[in-house]
Amino acid sequence: MTTPEFTIAGAGLAGALLALTLGRRGHRVRVLERRPDPRKVPQPPGRSINMALSTRGRHALACVGLEERVLEKALPMRGRMIHGQDESLELQPYGIHPEDVILSIGRAELNLLLVEEAERCPTVEVLFDQGVDGFDAATRTLTWSRADGTRGEEAFVTLFGTDGAFSAVRRQMQRRDRFDYQQQFIDWGYKEISFPARPDGAFAMEPGALHIWPRGNHMLIGLPNPDGSFTGTLFLPFEGAESFANLESVADAREFFRNWFPDALPMLPDFDQSWRENPVRSLVLVQCDPWVIDDAVALVGDAAHAVVPFYGQGMNASFEDVVVLAEELAMAPDDRRLALSRYADRRKPHTDALAELAMRNFVEMRDSVAKRSYKWRHALDQQLQRWLPDQWMSLYHMVTFTRLPYGEAKARAERQDRLVRAATMGLGAGLLWMLARRSSDDQ
Ligand SMILES: Cc1cc2nc3c(=O)[nH]c(=O)nc-3n(C[C@H](O)[C@H](O)[C@H](O)COP(=O)(O)OP(=O)(O)OC[C@H]3O[C@@H](n4cnc5c(N)ncnc54)[C@H](O)[C@@H]3O)c2cc1C
Repeated sequence: MTTPEFTIAGAGLAGALLALTLGRRGHRVRVLERRPDPRKVPQPPGRSINMALSTRGRHALACVGLEERVLEKALPMRGRMIHGQDESLELQPYGIHPEDVILSIGRAELNLLLVEEAERCPTVEVLFDQGVDGFDAATRTLTWSRADGTRGEEAFVTLFGTDGAFSAVRRQMQRRDRFDYQQQFIDWGYKEISFPARPDGAFAMEPGALHIWPRGNHMLIGLPNPDGSFTGTLFLPFEGAESFANLESVADAREFFRNWFPDALPMLPDFDQSWRENPVRSLVLVQCDPWVIDDAVALVGDAAHAVVPFYGQGMNASFEDVVVLAEELAMAPDDRRLALSRYADRRKPHTDALAELAMRNFVEMRDSVAKRSYKWRHALDQQLQRWLPDQWMSLYHMVTFTRLPYGEAKARAERQDRLVRAATMGLGAGLLWMLARRSSDDQ
């Protein structure tokens, strides 16, 4: 076997798109994926069946000519449908334009489409049930193993670690001198609960929205699927008064739903089975540095920067990594070391910014969206954007509907916040001054 130009560890969302991108350019690519071929073995339940795809991810798909095909499989969501505890409903639009929608897309379906498109490239080979265990950057060899215990070793030229949040490639890099690594499990876990379609096949809720039941310290969300169902996800602390630890039985869980999400329970006829079968999963945040070793190894996607899912950007950011990496490889075809280091320099500050934004958005989704102050600010941002389309964009808009680097979006939103605070204070001071004048005129 000749050594491929690029070896990719992991055929998940980032790895499959990267293989496809490189394959389309005629590079010889070999992908090693730890899991069995999804076309032959059913996938385990409860791993975020659908995802929110937005502008950054759509652009990456457009770069390989797949945006339209993905759109055909996706459902547009034009806003957040807020479910109050009193069973009230309120749609908060994401944007001011009809095209300001995010798309709900099946993870498995999207992943398979990318893998199959990559496999169509004559220079791409995807091997399932072959997990990368480690590598030696000096000798450029990697070791792999299969579920049946078979092990092997093979040479690589450049290895991309697209093997997710618990990356084996990154684990190997951690053994190197001066490799910084930070991992944080947040105190909340999640469990998926399926909302099936109605018996007549219709959606049980408005399909054009992302449904949220914000309850302060916890929340339930629901994303529509083309078959009329919704994938619900409960985010709840592991420990404490309202927590997974306190929901020992299915009856406890039902009671919890009855109290907190009264309008959801009647739409969950398979609640008991869903609760029993779907595991509680944890959420991890990963940051590390450097992402690359010379021209030998680079981390891409969650392997480099796993973020919590509350901005719906993990996949979008991973796809954006692929676009930037491909751009850099094309710009320096004879200097891979330069291409990889430029890729990491362009991405790292912005995925760090995203990590912070994603955590902040959790508070917004589970708590703020139901508050008057948030609604006022949301309305103000949208009005200012209508009046000053070139100068004013809400943070959500910049993150979701533009390709402005995350760090720039964050800095620009901070400047806008300062302006709004200053204007509010000025307005308050003006009102006080007017009241003081009126009372002195009355005397
Ligand atoms: C609950 C939840 C909801 C989310 N919702 C959204 C959303 O709405 N929008 C969004 O943009 N993002 C979302 N995300 C984030 C998104 O899932 C990730 O950012 C995205 O999957 C990252 O892609 P990846 O290819 O880097 O990693 P993965 O998708 O995790 O793929 C990694 C692949 O590598 C394989 N692998 C692992 N170890 C090895 C090994 N040693 N050797 C070979 N292969 C290996 C795995 O089997 C897998 O196929 C969500 C995440 C969670 C947890």
